[in-house]
Amino acid sequence: MIVTCRDLAARLTELEEGVGSAVERASLRFHLSICARCRRYVAELDRLKGLLTDLGREQDPVVPMSAEAAPDPAVARALSTFRAWKTGESSPDDD
Ligand SMILES: [Zn+2]
Repeated sequence: MIVTCRDLAARLTELEEGVGSAVERASLRFHLSICARCRRYVAELDRLKGLLTDLGREQDPVVPMSAEAAPDPAVARALSTFRAWKTGESSPDDD
């Protein structure tokens, strides 16, 4: 089986997820071992994935809008109610 760069790009997920036949995966790996271009491509993808993961981690604790910063008292109240639901302090049925 001859693997081209295009094949490798198209089937990279197969390689990572371990699906497809052993022969196919071996062929893809072999192409990677002999093709610097595809190795760069894979390295670049990994870098991007790492960046996305880092971004997700940084954004996790950030609350888009805090009740304290909301200009409208009604909005602030709604937000704090919403937060209470999320943290399980009270349910929407309470009040
Ligand atoms: Zn290649």
